[in-house]
Amino acid sequence: MGRFLVTGGAGYVGSHLVLALLDRGDEVVVYDNLRQGHRGAVPPGTRLVEADIADMAGLDAVLADGPWEAVFHFAALSLVGESMQRPFYYLAENAGLGIGLIDACVRHGVTKFVLSSTANLFGNPQRIPIDEDERIEPGSPYGESKLMLERALYWAGEIHGLRSACLRYFNAAGADPQGRLGEDHNPETHLIPLVIDAALGRRQEIAVFGQDYPTPDGTCIRDYIHVADLANAHLRALGQLEARSVTYNLGNGAGHSVREVIRTVEQVSGLSVPVRIAGRRAGDPAVLVAGSGRLRSETGWSPHYAELPVIVEHALKWRDAHPDGYGSK
Ligand code: UDP
Repeated sequence: MGRFLVTGGAGYVGSHLVLALLDRGDEVVVYDNLRQGHRGAVPPGTRLVEADIADMAGLDAVLADGPWEAVFHFAALSLVGESMQRPFYYLAENAGLGIGLIDACVRHGVTKFVLSSTANLFGNPQRIPIDEDERIEPGSPYGESKLMLERALYWAGEIHGLRSACLRYFNAAGADPQGRLGEDHNPETHLIPLVIDAALGRRQEIAVFGQDYPTPDGTCIRDYIHVADLANAHLRALGQLEARSVTYNLGNGAGHSVREVIRTVEQVSGLSVPVRIAGRRAGDPAVLVAGSGRLRSETGWSPHYAELPVIVEHALKWRDAHPDGYGSK
């Protein structure tokens, strides 16, 4: 049993990782400013430090209260589109503050660090599925900010011996299979929760961002990975840090088009989804599918919830039970 600090632990992916740690008996402290995170996503009995990673005194105080088995860093801005509007905001917040956190971890003797990174490092992939040898060319300032953190961690390893795992997520989706946690963004921009809301009549329709892509049905293809499988992959990667630093691309390895997602939500819910065809969204590559072979072969990880209908079923169940997200009583 270890003790872990999780920045952004009240957010979507972070909270599912916290649950995975608690489920195996670890102790967790969540550090979150609750700008995007939710108090209701922090399990009862888990300490929440409501503070920003910009608050160096706050960070120092928490880190001094060690020892920490590892620090998981999820706290970040995460919208590709917004980063195209506000590049320096993204670089300063994600890269600037993240580097401050890495520095603080080194000063406080932390030896293991797990970074929430992104498939947006691959803005123009040459080969699908995308493995770790793919050329890195960030698709946006958001992706660039994560690359800067990956590089900072490289130097933290070279110079200070900090071991790190850089985990490049593809499309996190679904909810805790036991229904304890789910997805609640404000504003919501992700496909699956938006399609679910359209099915449940909470939105008028789903806008399909382009159906003229070079894919079989003309809509974009993404790799949707169950958030519980993603959380589990963090634990596998953590195990690798006993010996060395690692970098993994993290997805299911199968692609689904926007049309397929809509069809699956209709099948699972038994409801119909009103669809409107809209223009392409800036910065969307046609196909993003992960090659997670390295993670599988090195750690033995494989997804438990690989099927899209199962991912949608869990997301739907949570959304149905929590119409106002964590605001629901
Ligand atoms: N998408 C869409 N309509 C929406 C939201 C998303 O057609 O209202 C598409 C989007 O263009 C992309 C896919 O759904 O091809 C997944 O988008 P999401 O924002 O969920 O994740 P991203 O791939 O951008 O990380």
